[in-house]
Amino acid sequence: MLRLLGRQALVRAAAPAQNACYATAAIPQPVVKPDIQHTGIFINNEWHKSASGRTFPTFDPRTGEVTCEVQEGDKADVEKAVAAANEAFRLGSPWRTMDASERGRLLYRLADLMERDQTYLASLETLDNGKPYYMSYLGDTALSIKHYRYYAGWADKIVGETIPADGNSFCYTRHEPVGVCAQIIPWNFPLLMQAWKLGPALAAGNTVVMKLAEETPLTGLHVADLFREAGFPPGVVNIVPGYGPTAGAALASHLNVDKVAFTGSTEVGQVVSELAAKSNLKRVTMELGGKSPNIVFKDADLEQAVEGGHFGLFFNMGQCCCAGSRIFVQEDIYDEYVERSIEKARQRTVGDPFDLSTLQGPQISEAQMNKIMGLVETGKKEGAHLAHGGGRHGDKGYFVQPTVFTDVKDDMTIAKEEIFGPVQQIMKFSTVEEVIERANNSIYGLAAGVFTRDLNLANRTAQGLRSGTVWINMYNDFPSQAPFGGYKMSGHGREKGSYGLQNYTEVKVVVTAMPQKNS
Ligand code: ADP
Repeated sequence: MLRLLGRQALVRAAAPAQNACYATAAIPQPVVKPDIQHTGIFINNEWHKSASGRTFPTFDPRTGEVTCEVQEGDKADVEKAVAAANEAFRLGSPWRTMDASERGRLLYRLADLMERDQTYLASLETLDNGKPYYMSYLGDTALSIKHYRYYAGWADKIVGETIPADGNSFCYTRHEPVGVCAQIIPWNFPLLMQAWKLGPALAAGNTVVMKLAEETPLTGLHVADLFREAGFPPGVVNIVPGYGPTAGAALASHLNVDKVAFTGSTEVGQVVSELAAKSNLKRVTMELGGKSPNIVFKDADLEQAVEGGHFGLFFNMGQCCCAGSRIFVQEDIYDEYVERSIEKARQRTVGDPFDLSTLQGPQISEAQMNKIMGLVETGKKEGAHLAHGGGRHGDKGYFVQPTVFTDVKDDMTIAKEEIFGPVQQIMKFSTVEEVIERANNSIYGLAAGVFTRDLNLANRTAQGLRSGTVWINMYNDFPSQAPFGGYKMSGHGREKGSYGLQNYTEVKVVVTAMPQKNS
């Protein structure tokens, strides 16, 4: 989102008044009651009912009321979808014989169709997920469209090497698609996570069965229909809405699936990895949880650092795997940083996400809201100072007050566990060596932030941090061109950029005997 709005957006995105004017000036009004067109299971470019006849509800997080019922995919539906994806991947199939440039053209076409439907998609995302409409429009949908275009460009540029191997041979590598890929995505960025996974998989020539998150199936199903409209052959993209332990587990353990790509919690990532290993050792990539440090040195531009800390945590209602949820502030500026952060939280507008002046909508579900409230209680009990918020916002839906804890210590639960909510933890440090060690003292290693005017200090700190991303004097920047992924229990493999393609290709070496003389 920041890229899209420009650098100044980091400041503006966290500042309610300016943000509302700036961000909403250029976007169309939302469709407050979007017409829901697709609630089925998408296999072979057709819509299906679930084999079991069961459906599941998706809820409006603003009210807790049911928005609509969706077909509940389970093992039998996964079976059909995997068969379709295998058939589409068969040697000689339309997909396997298609020119690589044509694969790219189809992806460009998909992006164009998403752009045509952008207002509708952004509105539907807000309805299903609760994120502010301006974010769905300028962030989620816009970045997803860019992402498909980025990988469309890659489709005919995935190349191997010719190798001067010892002996008399002609030796080259081919970067071939892995095969049938299962993709399991979460609810926090439904459209964007779908794009991050489908873009590289399809550019590289794989076929896919994707399981959408049960909390947010609606936009992913609309995009499924756009794949059909764009002209992708049947069976290349199959989308199954359903629950994790049923449909998700069936995919992760399927013998005719070659790879599983998962984004979600570390606990479920471990389950999926085990299922993958025990079934057929399918390839696994994992983008999991985090407890990311955001380090503010005393020479930082304080306004920028406060904004960066605020935006780094409160963005998307705190429902971000890379949320900067441990803010370490150097002791010299600690008090002022805390004071300004509390003021910023106080100003944060919470309310109806369709209202263009709203910065913070509801959390995704009652379960998540209750988990957040439970962790706030734990924080208080363990001695952190609750400086702002700490309760529900209103009594309808899943809204939580922007919350700030200060005087947080490393061994407190709220400094160790992922909260996935609008709850900021601010801690104090003295030296660079100390803060690097404390920042790394986590089972996670997804992202980190560093705020300082001293670029040597910034880069020295960046080198010391064990995390897949380090943002310097900024936070939450997700360009398609750059890789994203974790160290340690934040996962393995990278999404986005050229690195993202590596997880969707197998390397084959072809060695041909080359007699020295013509016989
Ligand atoms: P979050 O904490 O973001 O809700 P989860 O890890 O619970 O993340 O869920 C992420 C995705 O994993 C969702 O699509 C969910 O349905 C799926 N999932 C949950 N449990 C399983 C499981 N046992 N096997 C496969 N997928 C699962």
